[in-house]
Amino acid sequence: MQIADRCVVAFHYTLTNSLGETIDSSEGHSPLTYLHGAGNIVPGLESAMSGRQAGDRFDVTVAAADGYGERDEAMLQQVPRAAFQGVDELAVGMNFQAQGPQGALSVVISAIDGDTVTVDANHPLAGQDLHFSVEVVSVREATLEETLHGHVHGEGGEHHH
Ligand code: ZN
Repeated sequence: MQIADRCVVAFHYTLTNSLGETIDSSEGHSPLTYLHGAGNIVPGLESAMSGRQAGDRFDVTVAAADGYGERDEAMLQQVPRAAFQGVDELAVGMNFQAQGPQGALSVVISAIDGDTVTVDANHPLAGQDLHFSVEVVSVREATLEETLHGHVHGEGGEHHH
């Protein structure tokens, strides 16, 4: 069965950056499961999956624009140190959950200058070309419910009613 829209795909992957450093990998874990054609994974990887089948192995480079997007300097914000009440010591690289207009978002401290703290709400992988090494484990047809919900149910997927 070839991967097409409304297929549930399980795959193993290793994600490396342009320096060859491993960023993420499913090795030693269950394969990642997603519903093809529903935007569950980054667009560049999803399109590279089309037409593959169980057992296929391939490498693909996904440009930042087809991955987690380009970095957006408008996502940098300067806030007063006083906004971080209850945090003993602030340091560059610390992660926080912040409330944005579209709900919770993850920000990282990118600079500290006296009482001014710069937080960055860009995705950590924004602006990076992504190198995926992929092994397709299984492909099956999605159930009607999965297609309607836009995600996978059961093993490796959402558990809800
Ligand atoms: Zn659901």
